Amino acid sequence: MITLDGVRWQEVFKGADKTIITNNINEDGTIEEIEEKYWSDDEKLRREKLLPFFWKTIEEQGQLYGNKERGSVMRLTNPYFFSYPGYNELLVGFSDDSINSNEKTFNPNTNVLEYMNQQTGFKGQVAAFASWDVFDWIINKDRNDFIINSGAYPYEDSVLTQKQKWMNSFVSHMPYEGYGLGVRWDALTHEYAFDYLKYRKPRLLYIAYDETDEYAHQLKYDLYLKMIHRSDEYIGRIWKWLQSNDMYRNKTTLIITTDHGRGEAEKDGWGSHGQTVPGAQFVWTAILGPDTPQMGEVTYTDTIATNQIAATIAHLFGYDYKSNRETGEVIQLMVAKK
Ligand SMILES: [Zn+2]
Repeated sequence: MITLDGVRWQEVFKGADKTIITNNINEDGTIEEIEEKYWSDDEKLRREKLLPFFWKTIEEQGQLYGNKERGSVMRLTNPYFFSYPGYNELLVGFSDDSINSNEKTFNPNTNVLEYMNQQTGFKGQVAAFASWDVFDWIINKDRNDFIINSGAYPYEDSVLTQKQKWMNSFVSHMPYEGYGLGVRWDALTHEYAFDYLKYRKPRLLYIAYDETDEYAHQLKYDLYLKMIHRSDEYIGRIWKWLQSNDMYRNKTTLIITTDHGRGEAEKDGWGSHGQTVPGAQFVWTAILGPDTPQMGEVTYTDTIATNQIAATIAHLFGYDYKSNRETGEVIQLMVAKK
């Protein structure tokens, strides 16, 4: 599973927004240069320019949910529309009213990563890498002994590759709060996670990228687009590697989603999210794998919700997910081949 923090369904299904490009603080080039990279008058070409892996590979082999304008709604069931409540809902499978801040408090709820880690044959086969350090609390590092690596914390393991050693020293010497983000660079999270995948070969891996949300809050639309595009490239590289490896090829499902949406283009609403921001409850999911029938963009279908993802993941492994409360149900259309 991979999450892209606070990426709007609008960019996923409609590509870059011309109004926002025009009104944007451009750090990465002129308006003409940004339009050259991400704009086309044709909506399908436009979204493909922004997310080529999504709109070629996933469209051709998997499913994409969340285009509200074509009868596919995916929403949060929590009423807060910001990160910790969103990731709680996603990972544990229900909304918990007591989780209503982004503070570093250990999550009392059982999540699907720890549930799977407790099943026979899964111990030590689960890992999570995240750019945002609060994931140590969201996934609960206090209670769990599988790998949870996040933020400015170096990767700890009994054996380290040369590259991991180098990255650890780099990560611990970087001025974490000083490079303008408040999260670890996604490039570092990606390299840590991808190395772990190649050398440790986990059965369930979670990667949580974050830079998209940071640039959106800063109203830097060009950098937000750039990170969406780069995340798509990371995901494409991971999928290509999975399909080149005998252990994973044709046996692996990739599921990509987000923790919340954001507001509309008007009055810079696109930059923020939260309870008072209309539209921030709408999210999206992309999935591809051997149990998922090819449907491409799923349109005119039942509304789905973020609280259903945990049960869907466990089901793909052949398990009936149980947490400490009732969870959302398996999304049947995603697993219809099983
Ligand atoms: Zn977020």
